[in-house]
Amino acid sequence: MTETEKVQISKTDFIHYLNCPKSLWLLKHKPDVYPHGEFSNYAKKIAAEGYEVEEHVQALLSDQPKAHTYSFQSIFQTERGLYARADVTRDNGDGTINIYEVKSSTSVKRGARHNQIKDAAFQKIAAEEAGANVASVFIVHLNRDYVRDGEIDRQELLVFVDVTNEVAAVEPETRAEIDRALEIMDQTAIDESSCTCLTLTKSNHCDAFDYFNPNIPKPSIYNLPRISKAKLAGFVAGGRFELDEIELGEVTQKQALVLQSAQSRKPLIDQTVLAGFYSKVTYPIYFLDYETYSSAIPLVDRARPQAPIPFQYSLHVKRTPGDTELLHAEYLAKEAAMPLALIEHMQNHIGATGSVVSWHAAFENTQNKNMAALYPNKADFLNSLIERTLDLEDLFKDGYVDIAFGGSTSIKMVLPVLAPDLTYEGMDVANGTDAMEAWIRFITMSESADKDQLREAMLEYCKLDTYAMVRIFEEMERV
Ligand code: SF4
Repeated sequence: MTETEKVQISKTDFIHYLNCPKSLWLLKHKPDVYPHGEFSNYAKKIAAEGYEVEEHVQALLSDQPKAHTYSFQSIFQTERGLYARADVTRDNGDGTINIYEVKSSTSVKRGARHNQIKDAAFQKIAAEEAGANVASVFIVHLNRDYVRDGEIDRQELLVFVDVTNEVAAVEPETRAEIDRALEIMDQTAIDESSCTCLTLTKSNHCDAFDYFNPNIPKPSIYNLPRISKAKLAGFVAGGRFELDEIELGEVTQKQALVLQSAQSRKPLIDQTVLAGFYSKVTYPIYFLDYETYSSAIPLVDRARPQAPIPFQYSLHVKRTPGDTELLHAEYLAKEAAMPLALIEHMQNHIGATGSVVSWHAAFENTQNKNMAALYPNKADFLNSLIERTLDLEDLFKDGYVDIAFGGSTSIKMVLPVLAPDLTYEGMDVANGTDAMEAWIRFITMSESADKDQLREAMLEYCKLDTYAMVRIFEEMERV
């Protein structure tokens, strides 16, 4: 953007600003260098869901006796740069309007990271500055208890919450924040040499952390798992970012493992933990991984808004310790459906005995538990999976700690170190969010070479997840 152009701030920008002014400034002034990470894909899914819910709100209101009083996507723009597109407005006929903010969440979110009351306050302020007289503000969200049964029942699906008073309560502070946001966005330069997340843990950092802090070594104090804000602040104040500068006695036991690995430049191995894990393993071993899809609008009967439904699994079976010819089974739903066919497919491939191994097994077990509740006649099978499940990720919490994993226990960090010949790099589907996005496209495509290619990419990704577990399992066994 040129220096004379006026920066416009939308509601999304404003929320971005509330989370981090510098990050928004970078996005507005230097979009070319603004890093768009994996989070951006997730944000796209949320945006697409929002449009889907809006369509249902429009259809519901268009059926009302006073349908003509509702308008959709009205734009309010102000001279000083506020831009609001209201999902729905209602002309009350007395010179006032109501604003309806449509959300794909299943409740009104009031958390620090995303406060929907602040969104609504921004819309009201922009509308009023543009000349409207706003009487009431509503948030329309999804009813988490709605269970689809045939056609979508919009009356049941949608919840209208009057947040007028809550918005009024935050209006003065929101106005002040908007003033400040416009002021900062009008600046043609800011201090780009560091940012305030220096004293916050890695999970708080946005994709722009490296841009603003190019001199932070790798690895650094940010790779110490679950480090407290206070501890981090102490290290930062002392200018100590290198792990070599930290004493073992200054950190917790779990952090000390990562620190020791960093300082000794080699993995830290606790044979007792490894042996404890392997003593629990019984053959055949079933390496299992699910992919799930959570849809704002339930896709099929019995589904609820935003409730995850498994649509794919991959299974590698290692029958004996020396088994070199692993069995592989996989399932990918061809259409939106509740997971009965997936469960029955698994029943054909998972026997009554033997361990089930997953990575971050709480996820797989939550799906098993939910499916058992949906299908009581499958509960014995699914509960037996839960009882037999071992979490391979656990090994990397204290059995085998390597600074090369960056203080993480994610399979995406562990795999390249332990099995560098296997990689997710360059795959068309390379993570869970990609898989969700791919599947929703897949089920709506007609048969074609493109669809075949997408199917292959999805199968390949899920298969790699379980094969990666086999390789890591064997590597750890060797250790
Ligand atoms: S890492 Fe820096 S730019 Fe990103 S949110 Fe934190 S303070 Fe803002």
